Amino acid sequence: MAAIGEILRTMDYGPAPEANDHVRAWLDAHSAGFTHFIDGDFTAPGEAWFEVSDPAQATPLARVAQGSDADVDRAVSAARRAHPAWSALPGHARARYLYAIARHVQKHERFLAVLESVDNGKPIRESRDIDIPLVARHFTHHAGWAELIAGEFPGARSVGVCAAIIPWNFPLLMLAWKIAPALAAGNTVVLKPAEFTPLSALAFADICRQIGLPPGVVNIVCGDGSTGAALAAHPGVDKVAFTGSTEVGRAIRRATAGSGKKLSLELGGKSPFIVFDDADLDSAVEGVVDAIWFNQGEVCCAGSRLLLHEGIAERFIAKLKARMEKLRVGDPLDKSTDIGAIVAPVQLTRIRELVEQGRREGGIVWCPAAPLPAAGWFYPPTLITGIAPASTVAEVEIFGPVAVTLTFRTPTEAVALANNTRYGLAASIWSENINLALDVAAGVKAGVVWLNATNLFDAAAGFGGFKESGFGREGGREGIAEYLTSAAHAGSPSGVATGAAPSRLSGIPAGGVAELPGDGTLPPIDRTAKLYIGGKQARPDSGYSFTVTGTSGAVLGAAPLGNRKDIRNAVEAAHKAANWSAASGHNRAQVLYYIAENLAARSAELTERLRAAGGAADAAAHEVHRAIERTFRYAAWADKFDGRIHSTKSRHVTLALREPWGVMGIVCPDEAPLLAFVSLVMPALAMGNRVIAVPSQAMPFAATDLYQIFDTSDVPGGAINIVTGERDALGLVLAEHDDIAALWYHGGAIGPIEAASAGNLKATWAVCPGDADWYADAPGTDAAHLERATQIKNVWIPYGA
Ligand code: ADP
Repeated sequence: MAAIGEILRTMDYGPAPEANDHVRAWLDAHSAGFTHFIDGDFTAPGEAWFEVSDPAQATPLARVAQGSDADVDRAVSAARRAHPAWSALPGHARARYLYAIARHVQKHERFLAVLESVDNGKPIRESRDIDIPLVARHFTHHAGWAELIAGEFPGARSVGVCAAIIPWNFPLLMLAWKIAPALAAGNTVVLKPAEFTPLSALAFADICRQIGLPPGVVNIVCGDGSTGAALAAHPGVDKVAFTGSTEVGRAIRRATAGSGKKLSLELGGKSPFIVFDDADLDSAVEGVVDAIWFNQGEVCCAGSRLLLHEGIAERFIAKLKARMEKLRVGDPLDKSTDIGAIVAPVQLTRIRELVEQGRREGGIVWCPAAPLPAAGWFYPPTLITGIAPASTVAEVEIFGPVAVTLTFRTPTEAVALANNTRYGLAASIWSENINLALDVAAGVKAGVVWLNATNLFDAAAGFGGFKESGFGREGGREGIAEYLTSAAHAGSPSGVATGAAPSRLSGIPAGGVAELPGDGTLPPIDRTAKLYIGGKQARPDSGYSFTVTGTSGAVLGAAPLGNRKDIRNAVEAAHKAANWSAASGHNRAQVLYYIAENLAARSAELTERLRAAGGAADAAAHEVHRAIERTFRYAAWADKFDGRIHSTKSRHVTLALREPWGVMGIVCPDEAPLLAFVSLVMPALAMGNRVIAVPSQAMPFAATDLYQIFDTSDVPGGAINIVTGERDALGLVLAEHDDIAALWYHGGAIGPIEAASAGNLKATWAVCPGDADWYADAPGTDAAHLERATQIKNVWIPYGA
């Protein structure tokens, strides 16, 4: 070990290896070989195997079964058999499975990250911080879509059996991009991972088993291109989703032509990275690092063509070279490695040959001086300058850590150069002048354009290309549409994805309606309900409580009698919780899902509490079940209730952005005390509001029982505040308060409330007693609540020619 004096002198990084013992143990346990996952089980070993290697060591990792036509046939048949039941499940049931997958990915996140790095060669920093979190994000996001498809795509059906064929650069992420939307929409899947990197897909198969996914819904057949070709051509397949090279994409297009199969292709790219002379050059240099040295440049949307404004080109290249000297190439499992290993020797050879071709065509090839590791398949970060726009390296996708530079003089020339390619996947534009950046964005022919940024991905935004980069989008609303069809597919027994719900949810992994507990012999321990303010339980300022009785007249307990001062404290706490409004929709969704999870875990207790207040056990269980479902649904909406883009004047786009009100008051009705509370508070929270809620006066315990759930669901203190007491008195205090932006008042006379709200002209919304059916899922109900939980800001942006 280096002495401290030595470390201070060199200021060098020490080794920071990530442990791989769990992955090693898993591989050792499968030393006989990995087989396919068909119909819910791993198959018996067959005849043919192929070897999978660790690119950083150039050593074998595992042997994996090579899928035959018969294997493909069995997998497609299993998917066909599973499809009617899977597609007929209510969206909420599919949402639970997808959510369970997301959770299991998170639970195994380090294992999956290490496995991905060992199999693919990518740095652990990337697999740990980018790939695996995005995988979980895709499943969570699509759990949401499973829930919402019925309302959002009326009349749509699942397509049927989807063949997913994926590449080796983001093995588990590409799996997620395809399996998550496919399952959400009610399809079943046969996936073929790439032959270099099948291991994380096989670990994923295990997760499918762990969460109890019905057999046949996901099937995984390993193998090379011949297995992929057999799968794409199989007559039992209704849709092919392919990510990979343009050549293979073209072959699949030909093979499926006229078959009626739905097809989406995400293919190669040679994406421009355009730097104008008014860009922040240091940021742009970091941008290049993320554009072309992310994942060793093995990225279809890599910014591999640097188009530099002539005046800054020399300075920019000097800065870039200085930065390249600092890039660390080496062991993917070292946490301070920037660039890992190239996936396979054949890819390394391709990179070398193309760079040599660039040199032959007059390019100046430069790479930093640091030596590469002795073992393994590595290639240094490389810059090629001095080339012509028509040279091979400026046109052909290298799929390695190699960037080429070209210069331009005017924005028009930059756009012409950017579009001088058969591809059109992505573009990155760097300028401090928003007008210029948007003008160029309008001119670039690419499916994704990043301004002053690069390689940004999210499950909520579509990803896919123009021109020879393919068609179809993955992610977001447009991605879901790829897995739906409006009519029954010819020759396919596709079920209806969105039809009437069957009476029971089969095979739900967790959180179903539990049995009610039997009567005990001891009296119950007395529980003290308090107010909930700023994430803490608080005694009421008044020092008084009021008695709560059930419908039979039996005393249920005492609840605090809140007053003006309690409301004032709650408003103050809500204002301090501004971070909740600033959190991403995804973060808010996670918290709401967590609340749903904890509601499910405590459903027996909540049911018993409602039953004790009066009414039948069945009805109480139904109310709790509905409350869980609704919380799930508003979690689904948290990252999807988008604004719109309005067509306004020419040369502009107008972004209609939804913003939360900020701090809202919500007064709940007496009926359905838990369900109404959840149905009102969750949409407000989902949209980023902080809430002061006055729960049902008749049954406040339905809300006060939730404090521990909020505490254990990562709800930030102050996002939800609960003040129990007299509805009308507290409603008036809320209406008069100047620091509350909007007030929902349900279950009483609105006139006095509206009059009292005139002070700061807060928005009010009332539903009269008996007008709302809290159990119904009427079309448009979600949207009505979400719309009233937001206000719109229109932002006008110059755009287009
Ligand atoms: P890459 O350039 O990323 O290696 P490929 O297009 O060669 O991409 O491979 C992407 C995926 O397509 C892999 O899973 C591969 O096995 C599969 N594949 C290769 N050839 C065919 C084919 N003719 N039909 C279907 N799939 C194929």
